[in-house]
Amino acid sequence: MTRGARLVVLGKQGAGKGTQCVRLSHYLAVPHISTGDMLRAAVKAGTEFGQLAKAYMDRGELIPDDVILGIVEDRLAEPDATRGFLLDGFPRTTVQAKALDEMVGPKAIDLALDLEVPTELVLQRLSSRRVCSTCGANYSLEVPPKLNWTCDLCGGEVVQRPDDTESAIRRRLDLYEESTAPLLEFYSDRNLLSVVDGVGTPDEVMERLVEVVDRARTSAG
Ligand code: AMP
Repeated sequence: MTRGARLVVLGKQGAGKGTQCVRLSHYLAVPHISTGDMLRAAVKAGTEFGQLAKAYMDRGELIPDDVILGIVEDRLAEPDATRGFLLDGFPRTTVQAKALDEMVGPKAIDLALDLEVPTELVLQRLSSRRVCSTCGANYSLEVPPKLNWTCDLCGGEVVQRPDDTESAIRRRLDLYEESTAPLLEFYSDRNLLSVVDGVGTPDEVMERLVEVVDRARTSAG
């Protein structure tokens, strides 16, 4: 990993991936590329594409592979991604993982991290999750912003995500098992997979992630 890390972070939605990915990308000094964040930005901008994406997202469905692949390919072509990248929420299907190999080369991914959290805990976290509608910062019913559901960071309104309804959550978890879980084998077959326990405080989980990443960097020289 001497030329800058190229990481893929897998894991069920609600496993605390978003927050940890931001921290890990800072630690590694590489851009955090979240397909979910990119899609939410398009929804917010009100583009035609954003409206189409919203219909899938609100139902907990996956955006079609060819659409997501176009977005990711454009993003990886931006200059900052030559330093490396941390992909959050992509790939989510085997088609996407194979296409990623084609985009960056089959040996270019250094590490795939799977943040492992039991389904019951994920369900609990997703239903209590709240996010800032302006900057996307994460909160929860247990850890709300300091003042009246107003974001501590930017003053935006803190709300429940429109795709955090019970039916959409259930659909996303089913799709995870069906489409995304097979990627664990995909990356493990390539000796790239590290499973990290995602249960614990954010600092505890971050410590585990850093340990795994540092180990991978040392062994890659
Ligand atoms: P996330 O923020 O990663 O939880 O993603 C939110 C939603 O965006 C997902 O439930 C999907 O509808 C859509 N999405 C994000 N990434 C992808 C992807 N790689 N492939 C298909 N749909 C995606």
